[in-house]
Amino acid sequence: MEKKSLKIKEVFTTEEEKTINWVEVQASFERSFGTEVYSSWLKNISLLKEFNDYIVLGVPTRFFRDWIVSRYLDKILEQVKTFKLSLNRIEFKISEDSKANSNEDLKSLDSTKITEIKDSILNYNRLNPNLNFDNFIKGSSNEIALASSKKICEQISRYNPLYIYGGVGLGKTHLLNAIGIELQEKNNVMFISAERFMYHFIKSIKKNDMVNFKDFFRKSSVFIIDDIQFIRGKEGLQEEFFHTFNSLIEKNSQIIISADRPPMKLDRVQERIKSRLSGGLIVDIDTPDLDLKTKIIKKRLQDAESQFKEKCNISDDVINFIAQESRTNIRELIGVLNRVIAFSRIHQKELNISDCKNILKDVFNQAKIITVDKIQNTVSNFFNLSLGEMLSQRRSRPLARPRQIAMYLAKKMTTRSLPEIGRRFANRDHTTVIHAVKTITRLSEKDEEMKKNINQIKYLLLEE
Ligand code: ADP
Ligand code: MG
Repeated sequence: MEKKSLKIKEVFTTEEEKTINWVEVQASFERSFGTEVYSSWLKNISLLKEFNDYIVLGVPTRFFRDWIVSRYLDKILEQVKTFKLSLNRIEFKISEDSKANSNEDLKSLDSTKITEIKDSILNYNRLNPNLNFDNFIKGSSNEIALASSKKICEQISRYNPLYIYGGVGLGKTHLLNAIGIELQEKNNVMFISAERFMYHFIKSIKKNDMVNFKDFFRKSSVFIIDDIQFIRGKEGLQEEFFHTFNSLIEKNSQIIISADRPPMKLDRVQERIKSRLSGGLIVDIDTPDLDLKTKIIKKRLQDAESQFKEKCNISDDVINFIAQESRTNIRELIGVLNRVIAFSRIHQKELNISDCKNILKDVFNQAKIITVDKIQNTVSNFFNLSLGEMLSQRRSRPLARPRQIAMYLAKKMTTRSLPEIGRRFANRDHTTVIHAVKTITRLSEKDEEMKKNINQIKYLLLEE
């Protein structure tokens, strides 16, 4: 890290506009893109030069640049903008061309040496070789989507379009990419996200180059478009998509589409498009069950072992724990696992479950939904009361305090309003809840016992 900031400094000695701390930007990339994308791509970007309204980033290869531009550019720009408001453009310099160049060259970098973001559509049609059928693991939640995807590859335009939908991080892009890889040898494959499609569409309008745009997309024999929900509410884009779609179908090109919901649930999308999208085969990917999650973890561990050429010290207990706790999606599951692997490598030890809980506290607790019911149960258990006693109208302190603590936690740990909380506590008035929150806030500041109890109850709520 230190090295990097030094390098940036050197490059910038003659610059006026340095406001960006690249190390911080990188950290924010890791947070917002996730460790995987970050370590495979974004980590390798360096900041070469900073101007008032644009920056020049260094990337190792042309492929690298194209990949980053096609998938992450908008988000990168948005992210760097939070560090430098005046920014509105990013340019790239490929360092393989400039390996021999010294810092002198970097200082006198002029626009002819900089590879500007190419608008060439070709740049965006990249498939990721790491997302293929071989490493897509079958489970009951994705079985049909996987089988349909493979079927398409055997027999083009049998189901047209193939429409795959499901929540985030469940493997849609992976499957689409796998289809592309499989078919690219014998077909003219176009793989693009709806967002990128939009980007080109707008660029082409601005450059008065719609003819090229239309030609380009319509000549593909396999057209794969990711995250089609993006066209919602964008009339012009829908219009263009509709025409592209029709002309592709007409010449028997295979179309594969992914979305976060079924076609008919795409609100603010023209009816004729929804009906077009529904005209082939619609399959969904569901959230993974325990079995699939476990398989994915085991496969990833194997991969890590062969990558690092050393055994990963992750026990079956820990595997089970991660599989069970990770509830949302496969992307998160992989992120969590990477963290555990990294931790065990750094500390050279076999982790137990409580280590894992510690490492992953922020991830798992975030996903946990704390309800008023849960708070009431946990608090009454903690004080050895029945729920009925705690909610009763009796005012003796051994009942009133726990009741107030429960109200206080309901206010702090849920999004319920004061009147709603009151209602859940045997129809009490919201002023009673306010009083409880004030009392417990005051007590927990000065009373050690109270502070300890509250922390313990919070811990129980988050740990259970
Ligand atoms: P989506 O496009 O649905 O948001 P992705 O295809 O990007 O999800 O998948 C998220 C991550 O999970 C990727 O790293 C992908 O490789 C991985 N993944 C998803 N499903 C599987 C699977 N069945 N087997 C292996 N990896 C998977
Ligand atoms: Mg995706």
